[in-house]
Amino acid sequence: MCPSCHTPMHRAAALPERWYCRTCTRYAIPGDSPEDIERHQQEREHAIALLDAALGERATQRDADRRIVNEMESSMGQLIQTRGCGKCGGTMYRTVETDDQGNPTGYSMYICQGCGHMEG
Ligand SMILES: [Zn+2]
Ligand SMILES: [Zn+2]
Repeated sequence: MCPSCHTPMHRAAALPERWYCRTCTRYAIPGDSPEDIERHQQEREHAIALLDAALGERATQRDADRRIVNEMESSMGQLIQTRGCGKCGGTMYRTVETDDQGNPTGYSMYICQGCGHMEG
């Protein structure tokens, strides 16, 4: 029985043994008290909130990156490549020289906009 919505809980098919409430997503491990179940739920909500925040930031960052790259390419007349910085997790840029047909002929170093780290 779920301590929050008082509906019967269902045993998960897979091990380890867990009981789930279909109404509010609370779960119980055998022997859990209602307080334990509440604690699981709060930990789970906390984890989901952290995940949401992380995904949200990354999505915003990707969006900003794309805008910056488009501006750089149009103002410099050069192709820009990006990749993640291994040092700070920021975005690294490099310019790509191209010939008349748009084929790459040369590459600059990657420079991180976050920490200034350079990589070949
Ligand atoms: Zn419930
Ligand atoms: Zn960096």
